[in-house]
Amino acid sequence: MKRLVVLGGGESGVGTALLGKQKGYQVFVSDKGAIKEKYKNVLVHNAIEWEELQHTEAKILNADVVMKSPGIPDKVAIVEKLIEKRIPVISEIEFASQFTNATLVGITGSNGKTTTTMLTYHLLKDELNVSMAGNIGDSFAEQVAHQEYKNYVLELSSFQLDGIVEFRPHIAVITNLSEDHLDRYDYQYEKYIASKFRITKNQTADDYLIYDADDVEIEKYLNVHNVQATLIPFSLQKQLKQGVCLDQEHIKLTIKEETLTMPVKDLALEGKHNIKNAMASAAVANLLKIRKATIRESLSNFQGVEHRLENVLKIQNVQYINDSKATNVNAVFYALDSMQAPTVWIVGGVDKGNDYSELLSLVNEKVKAIICLGADNNKIKHVFNNTVETLVEASSMEEAVQLAYRLAEKGDNVLLSPACASFDLFENYEDRGRQFKAAVRKL
Ligand code: ADP
Repeated sequence: MKRLVVLGGGESGVGTALLGKQKGYQVFVSDKGAIKEKYKNVLVHNAIEWEELQHTEAKILNADVVMKSPGIPDKVAIVEKLIEKRIPVISEIEFASQFTNATLVGITGSNGKTTTTMLTYHLLKDELNVSMAGNIGDSFAEQVAHQEYKNYVLELSSFQLDGIVEFRPHIAVITNLSEDHLDRYDYQYEKYIASKFRITKNQTADDYLIYDADDVEIEKYLNVHNVQATLIPFSLQKQLKQGVCLDQEHIKLTIKEETLTMPVKDLALEGKHNIKNAMASAAVANLLKIRKATIRESLSNFQGVEHRLENVLKIQNVQYINDSKATNVNAVFYALDSMQAPTVWIVGGVDKGNDYSELLSLVNEKVKAIICLGADNNKIKHVFNNTVETLVEASSMEEAVQLAYRLAEKGDNVLLSPACASFDLFENYEDRGRQFKAAVRKL
């Protein structure tokens, strides 16, 4: 019997343990932190051995294969020991994909993964037997163990991709690249980019890579590396004979002999970045033979994703928008770019080394007042003090929303798009977004 050790007892770890057990492995789950009650129950119920608050080496270093959860860095001692002993350390996606013949769509990139994954799923779900997994919802491994779907749309972080060996998505999407998580990549942007492109590693010419052809880093990578997959570019700026581009206020898709056009104004999601996400999703749907009418209809009735440019309420003709998931400058860039009215901007939190200067001209053009909402707002104050007339600080979401209410006039927007992580004042970005919505509803 082969021994599978799972490091990390969260969603992907417990899913992998279940699948491993079902496939006849002797399974052991080890977590250096505490395992949530609901996951413990699953492990106990399925008679899977586990430990928490420690890694017992004797029970780990005898593994035939180890699944490392995406949150665990390569640099921790136990992983270094495993690598030294040449025990294969793989990701959940790698492990689970061995046990399914389903068609896999893998979506990665620095921003837009969740939106594009959900939108793609929405386009496919009426005509295909399909599920979503990866960083979304129930783990891929658990879904493979329980119910076989014929197609999966997988949201893939670079950490999941670092641990692949044979994983081969039939369709890969790279939404865009910007600096993120560099602490896990020796502060080298090239390493992070290489990690994203691992999604194409096992693809052949029968597979597809859909990518943003306006993204200079992606183009640069493709110019010097040999990617086997058939390339399907999308672009807002270029005219493309093959791929998806803009033509007179229409999205125009041309893939092989297939064509599809759709007015941009009919897209449910606003903002340039969402035109790109729609282009990527439409390309996936077209490759998987979804009817054009379904693609058009689904692109026009998609409900959007919570905390991503989510319209909350209109109060006294001021639109309140929750973009709490915007935890980096690039995401805020697109949020501000999509603002059609003078905007009161709530920004701040834990800065991961942001360069705000990229936002200066947009802030100048769109933002009438800035409300800083972080434990330390000095950097933001320093950058934007001379760009906007009003810059104030708040120490809670409620106070920030109250200030916004006073500063905004009829026809304005109030936008929460923090450019930062949330851990100084909130539990996570969802908590931050929910507090924003609650404060707005109280106005
Ligand atoms: P991810 O899962 O990659 O973090 P999300 O879909 O959750 O991406 O969106 C994160 C943030 O990025 C949101 O603020 C969203 O509005 C913004 N965003 C969405 N799509 C894109 C895109 N294609 N380019 C840049 N920013 C985007």
